Amino acid sequence: MYRSHNCGELRASHINTEVTLAGWVQKSRDKGFIVWVDLRDRYGITQLVFDEERTSKDMMKQAQDLGREFVIQVKGNVIERASKNPNMPTGDIEILVSELNILNEAQLPPFTIEDDTDGGEELRMKYRYLDIRRNPVKNSLIFRHKVTQEVRNYLSKEGFIEVETPYLIKSTPEGARDFVVPSRMNEGQFYALPQSPQTFKQLLMVGGMDKYFQIVKCFRDEDLRADRQPEFTQIDCEMAFIEQEDILNAFEGLTRHLLKEVNGVEVEKFPRMLYDDAMRLYGNDKPDIRFGMEFGELNAVAQHKDFNVFNSAELVVGISVPGGNSYTRKEIDKLIDWVKRPQVGALGMVYCRCNDDGTYKSSVDKFYDQDDLAKWAEVTGAKSGDLICVLSGATNKVRAQLSALRMELAERLGLRDPKTFAPLWVMDFPLLEWDEDTERYHAMHHPFTSPKPGQIELLKTDPGAVKANAYDLVLNGNEIGGGSIRIHDKETQALMFDYLGFTPEEAKAQFGFLMDAFQYGAPPHGGLAFGLDRLVAILGGQETIRDFIAFPKNNNGRDVMIDAPAPIDQEQLTELSLKLNLKS
Ligand code: ASP
Repeated sequence: MYRSHNCGELRASHINTEVTLAGWVQKSRDKGFIVWVDLRDRYGITQLVFDEERTSKDMMKQAQDLGREFVIQVKGNVIERASKNPNMPTGDIEILVSELNILNEAQLPPFTIEDDTDGGEELRMKYRYLDIRRNPVKNSLIFRHKVTQEVRNYLSKEGFIEVETPYLIKSTPEGARDFVVPSRMNEGQFYALPQSPQTFKQLLMVGGMDKYFQIVKCFRDEDLRADRQPEFTQIDCEMAFIEQEDILNAFEGLTRHLLKEVNGVEVEKFPRMLYDDAMRLYGNDKPDIRFGMEFGELNAVAQHKDFNVFNSAELVVGISVPGGNSYTRKEIDKLIDWVKRPQVGALGMVYCRCNDDGTYKSSVDKFYDQDDLAKWAEVTGAKSGDLICVLSGATNKVRAQLSALRMELAERLGLRDPKTFAPLWVMDFPLLEWDEDTERYHAMHHPFTSPKPGQIELLKTDPGAVKANAYDLVLNGNEIGGGSIRIHDKETQALMFDYLGFTPEEAKAQFGFLMDAFQYGAPPHGGLAFGLDRLVAILGGQETIRDFIAFPKNNNGRDVMIDAPAPIDQEQLTELSLKLNLKS
């Protein structure tokens, strides 16, 4: 028996008990005649004591030589501490050691195993196994475990069956590049790693599984923007014989369950917002509604004066910053510089101060009188003491810019409290999205998403206007889930592939299996997938997903611990019938 107790559980009630503990040496303090050692395991820290009077000379020496992170086992008696530490759960006691076994020595770790470590991100990733010994990472992984267990509990109780789907598949078009795996047995042929189990879960519905879920790895070979991982985890779900309303209720239920069980937070019924309204009011399809600052469109009240910047703009739109009139001229100038940064890309910003005496002072007073500015205040909901910030330009661009400003100001004003949870559904996304690069429409969600009833005809005349039975679940300004009601008949699916520019042959080659399945009685079905990494991070009150992944990749998609990706040897290449043609 390696241990009778763990390092987090001994209390005053254990005094006078003989115990065996095992763990790592967190630190030791050597006073010459007495040595204290903090012994750590997953459960906590227990203080060990060795002293001249009660410890043999040999063991005293051994204790003095213990290095940080040595793995040891001790036997001893639980005694009352002379000076108790109320900040430690085990702070009332210590172990008077009678036997010490060194199970394994350790090199000095390259960074301190403390909550506040001196190790930088890259170093911690290289030695992730040491990083995991630290409380913040360890607790994040335990937190993730709690979330996934609750997901499984809830969905199982609701009748969902967890089914595994293959990783070695054919491409699933979710808008990213595939990772591919060469097949040794099928020369010149490749598997793709799933961007999601989308087609398989639909086939499970054709197979009569009715309610499916899976906590599953997905792989997307994208350029990694901050905080994206090339492999990530979804809670993937699908249901048959349902309407959109059933899906929304089912997964609102799951989300509410998680918030309650994991965070102890009860939330009201989730608000629902049309995609068009989200874009109009927040310039964003994943609005953070923990705070207001909704957009006010000012075209009607700000155009047709003599201010050409506004007159020539497709959209003039503003937000009211609560208490923003207290900003100094310098602070406002800084804000203007902020929106002009290339990452935001605005050409400038017009502002209007709402003074306490009910008057207004704008940066464009030459063109607008007090009555005009009062209308701006009305449209943006500004009150005395606020500041109105106005941007103008092409609709999509200016919305994105003002959305960035809104989030930045909210952050500065402390309105994005990670302990407040504001979920909402965003619904009726466009079916298609124009891609500037390829000058073609792409499926905004994926090509299996059904158009709104009666809108399929519009595909011919105004494809951009067609709305889909697609919805996203948004939490605190992050998309945590998304899905759709699927097409379930062969004709509509063929039509969709056709609009997306697939020839019938291409569609058959890539998705013949799905079209075939649709000929054998496919039930109406739909579903959604949650991004588990992000969901866990948000529930855990953090923004970065990396802390919640045991072995994450860095921004270049590298695992710096195992040093992957890496070249393979010639023999392996030959076996796979591959020849390299490197660009550099
Ligand atoms: N497969 C989709 C995705 O990964 C989710 C869904 O439509 O259920 O975004």
